[in-house]
Amino acid sequence: MAGRDFVQLPGPTNIPDSILEAFRRPPVDFGSPEFKDYVDDLFDDLTELFGSYRVTAYPSVGHGSWEATLVNLLQPGQRFVIPQAGLFSTRWSDMAEAMGFAPVRMPVDQRRAPDPAQIHDLLAADTNHELAGVFVAHTETATGTLADLAAIREAIDAAGHPGLFVVDAIASMATDPVPMAELGIDVVLAASQKGLMMPPGLSLAAVSEKAVTHNATVTTPRYFWSWTERIDPEFVYQRFCGTPPIQHLFALRASVDHIAAEGGIDAVTSRHKRLATATQAAVRAWGEPFELNVIEPPERASALTCVLADGIDIGALLTLAREKYHVLVSGAMGDMAGRAFRIGHLGDLNEPMLLGALAGFECAMRDLKIPHTSGLQAAMESLTTNDCTQ
Ligand SMILES: *Cc1c(COP(=O)(O)O)cnc(C)c1O
Repeated sequence: MAGRDFVQLPGPTNIPDSILEAFRRPPVDFGSPEFKDYVDDLFDDLTELFGSYRVTAYPSVGHGSWEATLVNLLQPGQRFVIPQAGLFSTRWSDMAEAMGFAPVRMPVDQRRAPDPAQIHDLLAADTNHELAGVFVAHTETATGTLADLAAIREAIDAAGHPGLFVVDAIASMATDPVPMAELGIDVVLAASQKGLMMPPGLSLAAVSEKAVTHNATVTTPRYFWSWTERIDPEFVYQRFCGTPPIQHLFALRASVDHIAAEGGIDAVTSRHKRLATATQAAVRAWGEPFELNVIEPPERASALTCVLADGIDIGALLTLAREKYHVLVSGAMGDMAGRAFRIGHLGDLNEPMLLGALAGFECAMRDLKIPHTSGLQAAMESLTTNDCTQ
């Protein structure tokens, strides 16, 4: 094959060379003082990046950090509010239920972000403070919505509820701002294969001091996922409850450095916003039946764009785009499967890569004689005028 595939999936994402090369480094003695210093420095930088009190990490996909959060924060059978914004939120709720916890599933329109007023009302009605708090997917990767974390914080405070504020930022970390300290978020979850531009296999949970204090009162049985030894470890072994994922840590170092070299997290999230806005402009130009799933612009995530395309053979379109034009776009999930597709635009991605991917995708639309107006002009216009208010 000539050239590279254009990876426009909402994870895994493109991996920069510096991160790929980190995986070629030979192992080190993880018990050495040099490696302990290396890892301690890395976690100090992560703590700063997240704006948290401590960061814990697991050699697992994102689902592992979900489970870790549940067992470290919830009492057996405890209830907590979890808006059902899409398939990821639903799966997290299913996991909690399977483990004997009691998610309070707040309904959410699949084209809208969770309604903070509804969260307020659920918490305000909980006068005995039995609910553990609110667990929310910031970017819901099944639908492309972005929750308003500041408004949810206000809702929790307005209800006078002392519960925890837990955010699945697996798709939003390094794609949209996640102001953990500013908003008093207690746990922020991330996974390596999204905005952190790494292969899958490492998940992170940044925790607040309140979450750590609360953790000490929780009686739910846990061992591997437990934060207790992980947050102030004497040995790197304790940080991971086993052999540290050495090469993943080299790669995570490279990822943190890559973000810093771009100008820091704000520069990275601004780039994502620009690329997302350009993608949305292209989709609007395509015209019917293509339609942005997320109706309100502020509720659109910068990590991906979910496109409704009723009446089109989406399977054929995605297959042709992949096989003939080397553009990898993802189908929709759950209820939306067959009615929508999802264009990822996160990670190690720049303007010509996005334009190239959109052009390749439109070639597949032309081949299949799907009527549309080209969106390239609109995407270029958006990128050059740099107007992200659309
Ligand atoms: C990708 C994703 C997950 C799941 O991550 P895995 O690594 O596949 O377990 C969870 N939540 C959100 C919001 C995601 O985007």
